[in-house]
Amino acid sequence: MSHLMNTYARQPVGFARGEGVWLFDETGKRYLDALAGIAVSTLGHNHPRLVRTIAEQAASVLHTSNLYRIPKQEALADRLAAISGMDEVFFCNSGCEANEAAIKLARYYGHKKGIELPTIIVMENAFHGRTLATLSATGNRKTQAGFEPLVSGFVRVPYKDIAAIRAVAEHNHNVVAVMLEMIQGEGGINIADEAFQRELREVCDERGWLMICDEVQCGVGRTGRWFGFQQAGVKPDVMTLAKGLGSGVPIGACLTSGRAAGLFGPGNHGSTFGGNPLACAAALETLAVIEDDALMANAVKVGEAIRTGLAEALAGVPGVVDIRGRGLMIGIELDRPCGALVGQALDAGLLINVTAERVIRLLPPLTFTEQDGQTLVTMLAPLVRAHQAQ
Ligand SMILES: *Cc1c(COP(=O)(O)O)cnc(C)c1O
Repeated sequence: MSHLMNTYARQPVGFARGEGVWLFDETGKRYLDALAGIAVSTLGHNHPRLVRTIAEQAASVLHTSNLYRIPKQEALADRLAAISGMDEVFFCNSGCEANEAAIKLARYYGHKKGIELPTIIVMENAFHGRTLATLSATGNRKTQAGFEPLVSGFVRVPYKDIAAIRAVAEHNHNVVAVMLEMIQGEGGINIADEAFQRELREVCDERGWLMICDEVQCGVGRTGRWFGFQQAGVKPDVMTLAKGLGSGVPIGACLTSGRAAGLFGPGNHGSTFGGNPLACAAALETLAVIEDDALMANAVKVGEAIRTGLAEALAGVPGVVDIRGRGLMIGIELDRPCGALVGQALDAGLLINVTAERVIRLLPPLTFTEQDGQTLVTMLAPLVRAHQAQ
């Protein structure tokens, strides 16, 4: 440990292997995985189809670079376009890189319109990553503190506040885009209601702004639809993906449509690893399994069962402010900081997360069954009850 840079307050456990929705530590103790490596392990662990696909791809070719055509990348772009209605895809390796691409694209779009200092409207409590541009877009001072000067060209408004967005439009003529999560993950599972999503789409159309949806956490089936924006039936101009797309193999994507498509040409952007054959094969297989095994319908059903189960098990417990979410993206808001629950759950054999200080965050694999959900509720409820009794 001593040679690792101290960037994470890690739990004192390491996992030796995984099997479905369970992880096993070096002593053989098992843990129910209700976090999926922060919304990454879409298909759980050791999924036979994904394992086979990765092995076959590794035995075929791993990397060739974007100096050549990559058939798996073209196939994945076709597939993503088909399920999202977007037109074009740029592939990278992570969420912050996908957002960097989106930010560069929005600036480029502005310059083409003659706006020299293009500005992007971003949200309070947003999380977009930890590179300089994406931490500047992030709405959390802790992420930014000590890394100033921040990247300029962002103005911040309260989440879901359409009036604040319209007010910015009145005095700031450099705005080129609005960037947001349809469900804020790190911010505490905050959901943009459908009316707001539609109004935002309207404002962006009126003003000629790009609507940029960061679906890095809520995308790829987690909410019961392929993408969070599909709930309200609006379509963004730019969408970013990463986390769950490769079910554990790193891959990110920036998708464009309409006026955001066709902007970049050779030399404008790139990535050495982005869209390599291995990552694209893993993503194609992830999407195929989601479809073949009806995992989006499963996410809706199991997510509802978990929320209902939690509501029943926590009825009457003081200080449970809200149990919310969509599909298998669930938050339990308490009235006090509850970070200690992460370690207590770990001891009990359950992997959860706490974000925004007092929101328990559940992001289980989409392969979670109703019985897994019941096990989760049975394990978690007594811990919350004891925590709130203190
Ligand atoms: C995790 C996350 C990111 C950053 O992704 P990385 O792969 O860690 O760079 C960006 N946006 C959202 C909404 C996220 O949840």
